[in-house]
Amino acid sequence: MKILVINAGSSSIKYKMIEMIERKVIAKGSVERIGIKGAALMHSPAGQPEVTIEKPIDNHKEAIQEVLHALTDKTHGIIKSMDEISAVGHRVVHGAEMFTDSVLIDEKVIEAIKECSELAPLHNPANLMGIEACRGIMPSVPMVAVFDTAFHQTMKRHAYLYGLSYEAYTKYRVRRYGFHGTSHKYIANRYAEIVGKDIKDLKIITCHLGNGSSLAAVDGGRSVDTTMGFTPLEGIVMGTRSGDIDPAIVPYLMDKMNMSLEETISYLNKDCGVYGLSGVSSDFRDIQKARREGNERAAAALEVFCYRMRKFIGAYAAAMGGVDTILFTAGIGENDHLIREWSVEGLGFLGVEIDDEANQKAYRNEMRISSAQSKVDVWCLPTDEEMAIAKETYALCR
Ligand code: ADP
Repeated sequence: MKILVINAGSSSIKYKMIEMIERKVIAKGSVERIGIKGAALMHSPAGQPEVTIEKPIDNHKEAIQEVLHALTDKTHGIIKSMDEISAVGHRVVHGAEMFTDSVLIDEKVIEAIKECSELAPLHNPANLMGIEACRGIMPSVPMVAVFDTAFHQTMKRHAYLYGLSYEAYTKYRVRRYGFHGTSHKYIANRYAEIVGKDIKDLKIITCHLGNGSSLAAVDGGRSVDTTMGFTPLEGIVMGTRSGDIDPAIVPYLMDKMNMSLEETISYLNKDCGVYGLSGVSSDFRDIQKARREGNERAAAALEVFCYRMRKFIGAYAAAMGGVDTILFTAGIGENDHLIREWSVEGLGFLGVEIDDEANQKAYRNEMRISSAQSKVDVWCLPTDEEMAIAKETYALCR
């Protein structure tokens, strides 16, 4: 059964064609600069070189049409016709309280996703454009929506309510939603699968560390808390996002830096985090290099990042009444052994002990990095959000 996974942004679409149940990626690619000059499709059939097709692509429907042309092309295609696509899985960022799981898409679901757009104005409308485009071209193919927020809907009210007036929640839907749910769920389940344990018996802290970063406390397979909140700005310090700050800083800096509200939101999202602290880059490779060369601000940025993570790991151990497993994933978590080491430094009292040699070896692979004596199992475990979407889609469409 071939499943097409679509991740639609406002001017780009990423796709993967996955053969289930073998979990084999048979092609992947992206369409960039939709509706902008210089649009192009990059298509990589498995085991073959990437093909780039540059041509004007005015909207998402044209982009999906180009993807289908590439997939069915005589030379670089991987299927004979569109009929071989059994289902399409769509990434949708926000499902608010309406979606606690992935769902088959129908008119009612589309209306509900529109209703959530107010909470994710940059993402949900773009995700919807991808859904509408696919439905227009492949009306009889079942489609599934997989939400970034759904996995965290199991949080109890003590974890999702803010200390604001209750009306902020009931009237305006202000609460912790959490994001990266597909990734947190995938790696927690993958870990249980690898070690052959029932996830119901495990207390896991998942650390998704990429451009955006979040931690989740996963108790018995259910998310009980997570660091991102009403938006993906909350939580640990990120590449360019501030993470948690005192809200009183906002008006103070607006005044001092002469910024409008809109400029301040952009500042907190794009000019802060390890980028703002280091003044070097948002990329941990660059920051680590600068630190090695003696750059003090780069060192400080990494210290802040790891300290914030350590605090949340401690907090989530408390939230779950213990921790059996800590998992590191995404660009930083899978690659940067120093960040993994520093962010659990001093957690010996929880039973965490890292095997330095294993930790240094772990690089984009599934690998235990804790010592044989460690009471907490610590792993580097690559995430695969597209595969997770394909799995969810398969479960609803097989
Ligand atoms: P996204 O959130 O966009 O999916 P990724 O999970 O791909 O991002 O993470 C991208 C980030 O991962 C980069 O900005 C960089 O900071 C970090 N990264 C990637 N490779 C390495 C590496 N070899 N060492 C340290 N950090 C890395």
